[in-house]
Amino acid sequence: MTGTQDPHPTYDLVLSNGRVIDPETNLDEIRNVGILADRIAAVTGDPLEGRVAVDASGMIVAPGFIDLHSHGQNIPSHRIQAFDGVTTALELEAGILPVGEFYDNCAQEGRPINYGASAGWGFARLVTMCPEQAVNGKPVPRLAYLFDKFNIREWTESLATEAQVHKILEWTDQGLREGGLGIGVLQGYTPGAGAKEMLALWSLAAEQGVGTFTHIQNASLVDPRSSVSSMIQLMGLAASTGAHTHICHWNSTSLRDIPTIREIVENSQKAGLKVTTEAYVYGAGSSAIGASIYEPEEVEARLGVKFSDFTLVKNNKSFESKEEFIQERKAHPENLILMHYLHSDNDPQDAALLDLSVLYPGASICSDAITWIDAEGNWFESEEWPLPKGLQSHPRAAGNYCRFLRKWVRERQAITWIEAIRQSSLNGALILEDSVPSMRKKGRLQEGMDADIIVFDPETVTDNASFKEPCQLSSGMNHVIVNGTFLIRDGQLDPEAFPGRPVRRPVTA
Ligand SMILES: [Zn+2]
Repeated sequence: MTGTQDPHPTYDLVLSNGRVIDPETNLDEIRNVGILADRIAAVTGDPLEGRVAVDASGMIVAPGFIDLHSHGQNIPSHRIQAFDGVTTALELEAGILPVGEFYDNCAQEGRPINYGASAGWGFARLVTMCPEQAVNGKPVPRLAYLFDKFNIREWTESLATEAQVHKILEWTDQGLREGGLGIGVLQGYTPGAGAKEMLALWSLAAEQGVGTFTHIQNASLVDPRSSVSSMIQLMGLAASTGAHTHICHWNSTSLRDIPTIREIVENSQKAGLKVTTEAYVYGAGSSAIGASIYEPEEVEARLGVKFSDFTLVKNNKSFESKEEFIQERKAHPENLILMHYLHSDNDPQDAALLDLSVLYPGASICSDAITWIDAEGNWFESEEWPLPKGLQSHPRAAGNYCRFLRKWVRERQAITWIEAIRQSSLNGALILEDSVPSMRKKGRLQEGMDADIIVFDPETVTDNASFKEPCQLSSGMNHVIVNGTFLIRDGQLDPEAFPGRPVRRPVTA
């Protein structure tokens, strides 16, 4: 080409002069990023020209965050998470059934960020053991549907017969055939599920080459049904079947036994088991008050908390007595509560316990974002923007990732920017990509990768959500780009933008 000037390649979008961080290649340099359609087409020190050019000087340009544990599979929850830097939000713990219907519904409504779900074993167990709860012969693909049924003891506290286990596996397998990302195992809500049923489920996962995503059966400091006993069972399932075993939010289900549980997991990994972990960055958990772990007679000893450590999400009030707790649980088992099991903001020893799970090598930062509810306690799923005032949830649904960046990186300097970005993006892709190959294009800022990109100011990026006012958007994410399209530009959300795409395994039936 001597003698002629190469025409400048023209990109659809160019982000120039940002501090580009790619956790896989350990790139942390000033670079220009060129985007063509939905792909990253260039990462270079050379100047680039684009139809749209954005000056990213002084900003960090990084792969968008991957949340493997997001129950907020709707438009408002996704938008709130986008302000926190999330570009892919997956429902792997509870999962969903029917999987195909879930993906169809999301595609029809449009999604701001990438979405997906595992096959939900809990849904399969519910409609198998309580067939009258099925609607038109099948479960309803909404988490609210399952939450409502946690107080029905026939499916949560009973052992399944051999024939029922067979049927449960059929439902779950159907979810995998419809493209489910693995098997969601809400074992913590089903104390009645037996080891033989679990073994059958893990064998199915191994056979199909997918992962299991488990909320362990017992969250308790007290034997015989302790967190430690559940973890030993889980490692046994991993060892005896070889199936990938992912431990959901081990920060909260380990309670104050995280040192022991960390050792169990570390040694299991050293022995070659495919075990992965995730944590959110708060010392408070959240669930429906009717869940069996909140059995009032045992809750204080088993969880190491007092009744005043619980608050009702819809009005942010602490419980004053056991009687009040029992009353609320009876009247509204589906109501969400918060449980402050560690006081990590005030107590350095509690903060150190939280670090054991959050900073564990290879752990993914996940939010466990729960759907937002309005003042009447209804699940908020409206498209209206800006959001109405007073929405309630756990603050992790809005601020998990920016809290991690603010507190662990900027304030405490407990880890570096690149390590924090690795934990929030690449690690999630690595955990999934053996069974979900499309994840190999995510969590990386390199040529050829999906253009899911965040541009943020490291000096100011922060969470704003608190337990009192959880629905405060994170700030400092100047640009959030999903599949090459701006969802947030100059800090403003485009309410017309629905660039999210499904993350899904190939459909085989
Ligand atoms: Zn959970």
